[in-house]
Amino acid sequence: MRDEINLRAYGKINLGLDVTGKRPDGYHEVRMVMQNVSLYDGVRIGTRRAPGIGVRTNLPFLPTGPDNLVYRAAKLLMDEFDIGEGISVSLYKKIPVAAGMAGGSSDAAAVLVGMNRMFRLGLSKRQLMERGVKLGADIPYCIMRGTALAEGIGERLTPLPSMPECSLLLAKPPISVSTKFVYGSLKADSLPFHPDIGGLLKGLEDKDLTAISSCLGNVLETVTIPAYPQIQEIKNQMKEAGALAALMSGSGPTVFGIFTEREKALSAGRKLRAGGLARQVYTVRPFHVDGRNWR
Ligand code: ATP
Repeated sequence: MRDEINLRAYGKINLGLDVTGKRPDGYHEVRMVMQNVSLYDGVRIGTRRAPGIGVRTNLPFLPTGPDNLVYRAAKLLMDEFDIGEGISVSLYKKIPVAAGMAGGSSDAAAVLVGMNRMFRLGLSKRQLMERGVKLGADIPYCIMRGTALAEGIGERLTPLPSMPECSLLLAKPPISVSTKFVYGSLKADSLPFHPDIGGLLKGLEDKDLTAISSCLGNVLETVTIPAYPQIQEIKNQMKEAGALAALMSGSGPTVFGIFTEREKALSAGRKLRAGGLARQVYTVRPFHVDGRNWR
């Protein structure tokens, strides 16, 4: 058994997010194109003398008990495999919180992968995903990583060709948007448009950044933009600054812009920060899984 494992939990953006219906249990049926970005949280998993699970993070406002997804991920495997050792998880958060970038889900995915390795549980990726979905619909994707089409409630995954190289400007306005509010307010059976997910898949297949950019779409903007007009303003500023396209990620409020030139992305980011529209601003790249193991 290894004493300590360090992993990177990458954030994601949605190049496309469509809702195709609502299930009787309240979950929405989705079609999403997921893409990891190079912004990641550091996740260190270790054992400790005291029994139970200890969570530490660099963000004092985050829960460290059962409300933290990493706690629940660790507990799930400890219960199933009768792991008696105490577990410590240290999170170094860089992915903005409650931002539509699946930060918590990615951290939880890292804990599942890390504990599987540390305690030699012998679970396959698929078996980890089956356990992960019990904690959150995005967790199976966060275990698989890379570029993927996510259907069902987000757990039915098809790997896709990677997004072409580009600069991605991420900007999170200083507002909190609850995922529950967004999905709860969505009029799933009378949406004014559906994003061109087929066009996105073709754009990815053709490695055509312009085609991908022209097909970006997220139906959740129909809820968040009227409620928080600054999201539209950030999109407009990014486009004026030379982005091929800009879109809100997930349930928001983070907006990403696709740039072919890193300099333009950096200067657009500086302007957004200076104007006060966004405080958390990052210029990143698509993150590709290169076939090697999780690290
Ligand atoms: P998604 O894109 O999956 O909706 P998100 O980016 O909107 O995710 P997260 O940052 O994952 O949201 O977390 C949202 C809430 O979950 C936060 O308010 C936070 O208190 C709680 N949370 C629990 N565990 C974590 C974690 N490890 N990191 C961040 N937030 C966490």
